[in-house]
Amino acid sequence: MTITGIVRRVDDLGRVVIPKEIRRANKIKEGDPLEIIHTTEGILLKKYTEHNYCVFCNTSTEIELDGISVCTHCISRLGKLMKEEK
Ligand SMILES: [Zn+2]
Repeated sequence: MTITGIVRRVDDLGRVVIPKEIRRANKIKEGDPLEIIHTTEGILLKKYTEHNYCVFCNTSTEIELDGISVCTHCISRLGKLMKEEK
């Protein structure tokens, strides 16, 4: 996760503008479907696709945790990192 420091206000219809630089970096074009995911840390907007892709390496995966897709390879890598930090 990257904190951008960008703040946007919700308008009277509940809309929020995603800044152009964020849309460009995430290859979001006008008309693209976005999935709204409610997580324990807040709201996550994700490009909607019929297939889920790992948030770390972008490979196709069916594993989802709190609406976030992670592949088995990255789960294994995270597990190793957690062991190293102990
Ligand atoms: Zn992965």
